Amino acid sequence: MTDQDTAAHPGHDLDNVKARIADRAREANRNSADITLIAVSKTFDADAIRPVLQAGHRIFGENRVQEAQGKWPGLKEEFPDVELHLIGPLQSNKARDAVALFDAIHTIDRPKIARAIASEMAKADKKLRLFIQVNTGEEPQRAGVLPGDLDEFYALCRDELKLPIDGLMCIPPIDEEPGVHFAFLAKRAGELGLKGLSMGMSSDFEKAIHFDTTHIRIGSAIFGARQITAAGAKN
Ligand SMILES: *Cc1c(COP(=O)(O)O)cnc(C)c1O
Repeated sequence: MTDQDTAAHPGHDLDNVKARIADRAREANRNSADITLIAVSKTFDADAIRPVLQAGHRIFGENRVQEAQGKWPGLKEEFPDVELHLIGPLQSNKARDAVALFDAIHTIDRPKIARAIASEMAKADKKLRLFIQVNTGEEPQRAGVLPGDLDEFYALCRDELKLPIDGLMCIPPIDEEPGVHFAFLAKRAGELGLKGLSMGMSSDFEKAIHFDTTHIRIGSAIFGARQITAAGAKN
């Protein structure tokens, strides 16, 4: 690589993703300021994340509490105004740590987690932004409340636990047309009076913008491909 290449490619594609968001927002007659870009840094270490922070980006997503605890406290000392979103499944024994480190959780999906988060938020006197994950494809291996249980679960959060829910989140099945799932999630959020829609990843965020997404979660399109883990699972 020449010096010029290095300047043009600072190890991430943040600018390219932002330009695509702006283009799609314009086409959809939306204000791109209404679309929050969450840079998903899971599996990437602090040295890979720092250039994106230095480029001015501050909103990041991680899918594991423990992994995030290993890199973000240090990065937050350098960049105190970082906003962290937990986008992966949460165990109730990690609820206290999650509330301490994160500003938003996208994966509230069962009563045990909702109760644990409500209790830890009260203890810490800290309000997080919260999304209910909906398993729109009813996939057995996928986290998320089933569509048929959403009304009851939302009522539990709102009425019994007084848990402030900002919106709904989904991950469409890999082999299905994502637009169907985005449309469904947007419709259900509207019916519940919720404004937040956490939907759209590297492969489908442009489509999600047309379905009124408010939070897109972009990993590989910014940071590049992730390594396959030793366990064989692609994070
Ligand atoms: C990893 C992950 C993303 C980002 O995926 P990309 O395809 O790399 O953009 C988004 N949302 C969730 C829940 C994830 O786990």
